[in-house]
Amino acid sequence: MAQSPQDLRIAILGAGMGGLTCALALAKEGFKNIDVYESASNLGFVGAGIQLAPNMARVLDRLGVWKGIEAEAVNIVETSVRVGATDMELAHVPLHYIKDTYGYPHMVGHRSSLANGLYQGCLRYENVRFHFSITADNVDSFGPRPSFIAVPRDTSKAPYRVEADVLLGADGIKSNTRVAMMEKLGIQTAVKDTNQASYRIMIHKDQIKDDPELLELMNSNTVSRWIGEKRHIIAYPVSNNTIYNLSTVQPDKNFAAATNTTYTTRGSKKVMLDVFNDFCPMVQRMLNYVPEGEICEWKLRVHEPLDTWVHESTALVGDACHPTLPHLAQGAAQAIEDGAVIAIALARLPNTTPASIHKALKVYEKIRKERAYTLVELAAASGRALHLGEGAAKEERDKQFAALKNGNGPVPDKWADADVQRTIYGFDCQKETQERFDEYFA
Ligand SMILES: Cc1cc2nc3c(=O)[nH]c(=O)nc-3n(C[C@H](O)[C@H](O)[C@H](O)COP(=O)(O)OP(=O)(O)OC[C@H]3O[C@@H](n4cnc5c(N)ncnc54)[C@H](O)[C@@H]3O)c2cc1C
Repeated sequence: MAQSPQDLRIAILGAGMGGLTCALALAKEGFKNIDVYESASNLGFVGAGIQLAPNMARVLDRLGVWKGIEAEAVNIVETSVRVGATDMELAHVPLHYIKDTYGYPHMVGHRSSLANGLYQGCLRYENVRFHFSITADNVDSFGPRPSFIAVPRDTSKAPYRVEADVLLGADGIKSNTRVAMMEKLGIQTAVKDTNQASYRIMIHKDQIKDDPELLELMNSNTVSRWIGEKRHIIAYPVSNNTIYNLSTVQPDKNFAAATNTTYTTRGSKKVMLDVFNDFCPMVQRMLNYVPEGEICEWKLRVHEPLDTWVHESTALVGDACHPTLPHLAQGAAQAIEDGAVIAIALARLPNTTPASIHKALKVYEKIRKERAYTLVELAAASGRALHLGEGAAKEERDKQFAALKNGNGPVPDKWADADVQRTIYGFDCQKETQERFDEYFA
């Protein structure tokens, strides 16, 4: 048996934001045996932007990787919600106060910058070992010695069994670990179709050098959202204002017939333009800058909340247990909070028995589960408000937008609402774990 918690053998399945943060946070806590298994051959940098909210930045800073990520990011000082069809501004929310209130500004960046920052952080610790091109299959024991079969992509190499003391399933929305764990526990779970899909687009500065209106957006420190019935586009500059990032949400048509295994597909430019053909000319122009062949559409799926994220010495992390719609921009931030909390909980173990490991993982679940599912629901509610068609509910929403212009009332676009921000950014998951560990572990 391991002498101290730091001697425990930790296997992490998946090197997404959740898995990378688990590895980095555990290394920072002095854990000596951390192995990360990733089925892709590398980090697979997706060309897309990501919001770097203060609750994420706080964790990254404590883990020693924020400075590098921040250096390439863009500081957001305001958000503007606009009618897609006319470009009329519905709401303008200043965000200057965020840094003073929560210690970090609201920034936006490139996903590759975030993933690479975490990865480089891990590489500073020789105790973190990455195993790329290895798919974790057949999780057949959850404890006291969790184990799975590691299947190399290179078929000339034989699959092998891996056994650990702690197994962290950070294997994303299609998580094999979740499926195996729920099957073992006899819990029915199903992936839920949101009937929504998303195009993720990046426009480079040189493409729009003759378009002053778009250059102004590129050089701004603004998150803009254009909304319409059942659709919206959120956009902001990333990479030191050299790339303009657009993320759309629209009814899912192209995936409708697809099986559960398909989450992204190459999109058609004509179809994308048709979906937004009643949006204003500037939006049309932005979409038109995207070269044919570079359009990627993402299926947006979530699943029903799970009864538990933990079985024996195994825990689920990130999208594996709380996938969310992107309307609150908190999916990765919540996966990052998971990693930070797990590391503190395991480091506080009084001994290394499987029973104690299980209890520490339950502390993680206690601190994270309700919060994560509250934000999943808030994200869905925000989407419903943004996507309203003509009718009483939309009139009510637009009254709220009008009241906001006079400086009062809630923001229907929830991520910009001060009360929602207090809930999300004001919560210090690491402090909470330090302070509540003994109470929850008892
Ligand atoms: C359109 C859109 C916009 C978004 N915008 C934001 C935003 O602005 N801010 C934000 O915080 N979040 C955002 N998100 C959410 C965020 O991207 C996800 O919540 C986050 O990436 C989840 O991280 P993860 O590590 O849990 O999962 P993933 O990133 O999916 O990582 C899982 C990893 O596990 C690997 N894997 C899977 N199965 C196996 C296996 N069997 N063996 C080994 N490896 C395996 C995969 O290859 C993958 O690398 C957005 C999401 C979408 C779709």
